Amino acid sequence: MLIAIPLDARIYVAGHRGLVGSAIVRRLREEGFGNLLTASRDQLDLRDQAAVNYWFKANRPEYVFMVAGTVGGIHANSTRPAEFIYDNLMMHATVVHASHLHGTKRLLYLGSSCIYPRETAQPIREEALLTGLLEPTNEPYAIAKISGIKLCQAYHRQYGCDFISAMPTNLYGPGDTFDLEGGHVLPALMRRFHEARAAGAGEVTVWGSGTPRREFLHVDDLADACVFLMRRYENRDQHVNVGTGEDVTIRELAEMVRDVVAPGIELRFDSSKPDGMPRKLPDVTRLHALGWRHRIEL
Ligand code: GDP
Repeated sequence: MLIAIPLDARIYVAGHRGLVGSAIVRRLREEGFGNLLTASRDQLDLRDQAAVNYWFKANRPEYVFMVAGTVGGIHANSTRPAEFIYDNLMMHATVVHASHLHGTKRLLYLGSSCIYPRETAQPIREEALLTGLLEPTNEPYAIAKISGIKLCQAYHRQYGCDFISAMPTNLYGPGDTFDLEGGHVLPALMRRFHEARAAGAGEVTVWGSGTPRREFLHVDDLADACVFLMRRYENRDQHVNVGTGEDVTIRELAEMVRDVVAPGIELRFDSSKPDGMPRKLPDVTRLHALGWRHRIEL
């Protein structure tokens, strides 16, 4: 069934300044949605339930894309675990609860592929959730993300709320964090090779062994999938994976960036830095069966 969202519907994109939120706003504007609601961090602290309730009461969003969060790469996750668990737990809880209190028609919650057990069959099916121990470098973040899924399911079960969840894979695109310490691997490598070329350096350092495998989805494809799911995904008891279905090793990724940005520069692997999950390739069979596929190749 297709859920028709009128072009004048009040749509709240929580986290509109982030990589994902800004892509969703671009995508909705392109389609002609004219009533997009946003609130910056200074205007609304999403960890504050009273403030979020007040904002919802005043703005009455009909559709909510819950894509706000405190996010970062493997180093940020390892060194700021308290922020990653507290901020995310709170933000998910306040937005889900306020959406329930103030009559939101439909909410899409976005998790992360790090919710799955470290040792699990690949590609990872949605059913693998909570079947094993998590990857220690991002366990606090993953626990918060799992709580978000369970919040949506519980509010559906008890109150009948139309809240659904999607789990994207590793993302990249315009608006990414190019911070070398806090960001994810792809923007970090782009910057490292760019700076090495500018400095005439002979080698670039890549964290870890280069053997972990990761999948990368362009954020414009993710935004397209989010709007697609908002209209079509009806299983409130089961989240859905969003990805391309194809992964590469970190070495292959580094070589790919090197060959574009700074051909000839040598790679040096720094084994003092963590590898994280050996592989995390979500199974996208369910998403493909709904009729969605990515368009932008790595
Ligand atoms: P993860 O998918 O949660 O592990 O997030 P990241 O994007 O931070 O890291 C993915 C993989 O890339 C890990 O194995 C990292 O060790 C590796 N990696 C290699 N170089 C870098 C780098 O410069 N920054 C980051 N964040 N990761 C890197």
